[in-house]
Amino acid sequence: MRVGNKKQYDHMVNTSSAERRVRIDSVLEWLGDMWVIREDGDGPVEKERYNTMMAAQARTPEIVPVPSLVSRAVSYIKAVTGALVDDEVFNTRLRACTEEGGWTTASLEGDVTSVTATSITINQTVVLLQDGESSTVAQGDKVVRNQPIAEGRAKSCPHLQRKVDNGQEKLYCGGCGCGQRAAAELHTKLRYASATCPRRFPLFKPV
Ligand code: SF4
Repeated sequence: MRVGNKKQYDHMVNTSSAERRVRIDSVLEWLGDMWVIREDGDGPVEKERYNTMMAAQARTPEIVPVPSLVSRAVSYIKAVTGALVDDEVFNTRLRACTEEGGWTTASLEGDVTSVTATSITINQTVVLLQDGESSTVAQGDKVVRNQPIAEGRAKSCPHLQRKVDNGQEKLYCGGCGCGQRAAAELHTKLRYASATCPRRFPLFKPV
C-alpha cells in the first residue's frame, strides 16, 4: 500500500504525463487529506492501517484536489462569472459555510445499521456524534462518504477562513483554490450561480 499527502500528490501529477495522471487518479483513494493506493500484495498490517485511516478521516470533510495553478485560475473565474442567485439561495449557501459545514459526516459509503444518541453505525463502522448533535439519518438509510449525517449547534465548515479587514470580517473558502481575492470573499462569491462547494459531498452546487 502506498500512502501520501496532498503535497506529494501535487508533485506526482505535476511531473507526470496526462496518461499517467489518469492512471494515478483511477487507483488513488482520498481518505481525508491523505491518499492511499492499495496494492495486490497488501497483507493484514496494510489492511489494518487502511481501516485505521478510514476511521480517522471520519471528521475530515474531503476536498476535491485542485492540482494546478491553471485549474485554480479556471475554477476561480468560473465561480465568479455569470448569473446571480436570489437571497434565499445565497443565505442557504452562507449557512452551509458558517453554521452547518462542521456537522458530522459519513466516513464511508454504506447502510446505516444503528443510531443511538451518541453514535451512528454505518455497516460495521461506528461514527461518533459531536456534543449537542443528533442524527439526521435512520436505520436502513443508505449514505455516501462525506455526506452530512447529523445536525446540531452552529459549527462552521473547517475550511472556512475568517479575516478582519478594516474592522470588517471577511469570509473565504480555504478549499476551492480561489484564494483571498476580493471576488472570492463569500458574501460576493456565493451570489454567483456557478459557485460550488469543493467538498467531495458538496454542501451546495451551481444552480
Ligand atoms: S468547503 Fe468552502 S464552500 Fe464548501 S462549505 Fe466549506 S467553506 Fe463553504
